[in-house]
Amino acid sequence: MRQYDGILSDIARKVNQGNSPSFDEIVYMYDSAPISDLGSMARSIADDLTGKQVSFVSNMIMNYTNICNVRCKFCAFYRTGSEDDAYTLSLDQVVDRVRHFYETFGIKQLLIQGGVNSELPLDYYLTLFNTLHEKFPDLGIHGLSTSELSFISKKEKMSIPELLSKLREAGLETIPGAGAEIFSDEVRKILRRPIGSGKEWLSIMEEAHKLGIRTSATMMFGHVEESRHKAEHLLSLLELQKKYHGFMSFTPWNFEPGNTQLERENLVKYRAGGEEVLRNIAIARIVFNKHLPIIQSSWLTNGVQMGQMAIMYGANDWGGTIYDEKVIPATGKMVGNLRKEIIIESVKQIGMIPVERDNMYRAIRNYN
Ligand code: SF4
Repeated sequence: MRQYDGILSDIARKVNQGNSPSFDEIVYMYDSAPISDLGSMARSIADDLTGKQVSFVSNMIMNYTNICNVRCKFCAFYRTGSEDDAYTLSLDQVVDRVRHFYETFGIKQLLIQGGVNSELPLDYYLTLFNTLHEKFPDLGIHGLSTSELSFISKKEKMSIPELLSKLREAGLETIPGAGAEIFSDEVRKILRRPIGSGKEWLSIMEEAHKLGIRTSATMMFGHVEESRHKAEHLLSLLELQKKYHGFMSFTPWNFEPGNTQLERENLVKYRAGGEEVLRNIAIARIVFNKHLPIIQSSWLTNGVQMGQMAIMYGANDWGGTIYDEKVIPATGKMVGNLRKEIIIESVKQIGMIPVERDNMYRAIRNYN
C-alpha cells in the first residue's frame, strides 16, 4: 500500500491490520481527505480481497405495486392509490413478466419490492413466492424492504422472525437493503421517514441474520445529510456485520431529486456530483475493509462510465443488469437496462475480469 500523510497514514495502518477507521477519521475522509488518496487506498483493499475480479448478476427488478402509505419526501415512485397510474400486479402478471426475462435473458436474481400497500395480505406474498420458486427454482428471490416487512408483520400481528421464517419457507432467499437511507432520526424526520425506522431497519436485518437469512446493506447520500450522519450509518452497519456477517454487499447510492417533494420544497436541487459518488464508494471500501468484502458500483443511478470509475475507486461488484425497474425512471432519469454483454465489455475496458454470479454471490462464469 502506498504511503500517505497525516491522518490518512494512521487510517492506512489500521486498515493494513484489518481494522476500521474511527468516527472522527471517517468524518475527516468525507470532509478533507484527497480523493485520489482515498481511491488508491480503497482499490488496494479491493485488490487484496478479490483481485481483478468484478462480479455482476443477470437480474430484474420487479416493482409489484406503487401504492404506498409511507409517502417519503425523497420518493417519486409512490402513489396513494386513487391516481390513474396507481397499480398492483396480480400473481399472473408477475409470473408472466418474470417468465419473459427468465427465458429471454436467463436472469438469476429477482429483486422484488414495492410500496407499502395496506391492501395486500401476507397470503399475496406467500402465494407469489411459492409460485415463483416452483416455476423458476434457480432464480434467487431477493425480496421486500424492511418497510414492507415491518408493515406486514404489524398487519398480520406476527413477529418479524415468524414472518421471515414463513417467507423463507415460501421461497424468499435474501433481503435487499432498501429503506436504510440514513439511519439518524434527525435526517429521517426531514425525509418524512417514520421516526425510529432507522433503528427498526437494523433490528429487522439483525433478526434475519440470526435466522441465517443473508441481506444487502445500503446508504442513500446526497440529500440533507451531513458527514457525521454517514459516519454513524457506516459504523452501525459495521457493528452489526461483525456480529453475524449477514450482509453480503453494501451499495452507497446517490439521491435522485427529480419529481420528489425534497426537490419541490427546494431542500435538494441537484444530484451529487461524480467526486462525491466516488468518495462514498472509496470510504465504504475503507471502512468495511475485509469485514464486508463486496461493495457495489450502483451503475443504475450513476451510469456505465461512473460504474467503471466506481470499480477503480474500490467497488468490486457491478450490480445487476436490472430489467423493468420503475423507481429511478419515476424521477425523470432514464438509465435503461444493460445487457450482460455491455457489463462484460465495460469491466474489460478497465482491465478487470468480469465474473457472472448468482443471488448468493456464487460465481457462475468467469469471462477472462
Ligand atoms: S421509498 Fe418506499 S416506503 Fe417510501 S414512499 Fe417510496 S415506496 Fe413508499
